[in-house]
Amino acid sequence: MLLCCSTGISCGKQGDSHNAISGWEKMGEEDEPSEEPSKEPSTPTDSDDPSSDDSSKDPDEDRWFKTRGIVCGWSDVYAPYHTYKIDYLDIAEKHHLNTFSIYGADRSSDSWKQYMESAAKIGVKFEFQEHMMSFLLPRDLFKTHPEYFRMNKQGVRVEDANGCPSSEGALAQVFLNAKRLGESYKPTNHRYYFWLDDGGDVCYCEHCKGLSASDQALMFENKIIEALKTLDPDAQLAHLAYNNTTEAPKNVKPAEDIFLEFAPFHRTWEHALSETWAEGNSGWTHAKYLRALQENLKVFPKETAQVLEYWMDDSLFSGWNQSKLKQVPWNSKIFLDDLKTYAKYGIRHITCYCAYVGPNYNQQFGFPDFLIEYADGLYNFEKQ
Ligand SMILES: [Zn+2]
Repeated sequence: MLLCCSTGISCGKQGDSHNAISGWEKMGEEDEPSEEPSKEPSTPTDSDDPSSDDSSKDPDEDRWFKTRGIVCGWSDVYAPYHTYKIDYLDIAEKHHLNTFSIYGADRSSDSWKQYMESAAKIGVKFEFQEHMMSFLLPRDLFKTHPEYFRMNKQGVRVEDANGCPSSEGALAQVFLNAKRLGESYKPTNHRYYFWLDDGGDVCYCEHCKGLSASDQALMFENKIIEALKTLDPDAQLAHLAYNNTTEAPKNVKPAEDIFLEFAPFHRTWEHALSETWAEGNSGWTHAKYLRALQENLKVFPKETAQVLEYWMDDSLFSGWNQSKLKQVPWNSKIFLDDLKTYAKYGIRHITCYCAYVGPNYNQQFGFPDFLIEYADGLYNFEKQ
């Protein structure tokens, strides 16, 4: 069964790779000097960001949670002609959300550019959290280079997911494509997310078979960060601990600036994580998650570690069926308790899906006050 972090682009269900890639806009880059001045509006840069006027001052100096983010779709956040019922930028400005990851936008459109400019003015950074393996190792290479792809348990090379990280040829492709994608797909906070295939199995060839899914992911990620560093010396890359990569890698060490992104997809949101006996789907207990988090934090630095949560992910709670939205089972007590748990482990970066929390949600259930509680909860959190 294919498990999804969320919907749309995050499941790799978006259109063909050409459109997905060519639609990505160069964002947050320093403008290259050119012979002719561009007639296009300039892309937002740090210099447009009033909060960066005094670079010595960290606006979040006294905040525990440095990243207070959301991940959702363009149709959730955008309303034509500013007819917003849920104005995410207004919420960000008043309640201090500072990181947006938005999928499904036409990044060459004026509306997207204007949205980014407005966001930059209030200090919101953009990043792009998406499954990328089919772009890093295009499946059509299978015809000529089956050895780039994973071997299944029956000993047959297959191109259904991921690849063979012991293949030098596969790694060379990943390097080249990571450079290309990184150029057209630049976050404004230097944090890159080139996730492997959602729920995809891994390689069982003679070189890979002793390596866990987390080890194999890291082998690809170590190559990806090498490519990204040639574009952006400050680049950081997420290692997504999610589903089959939840356990900490044991045999492969992360390169510098790979950060842990911990996504407890199989937990239950009916109980706080601190209730270690609680069990989510697939029989995963909170104890199992907390152990995995601890193990991962022995491998990855805790200073940069991030949690990707689902407290507000209505795509998950609605079973990825937009025509039958269910109400987000928000529970502020559980949310605040979870923040305490994450903070206890030293986590200072939190982001959360709020997919499907858009105009239709608002129409059906009224304004989602949990967005405000989420933002305020993160901003006002004090570690004990
Ligand atoms: Zn292999």
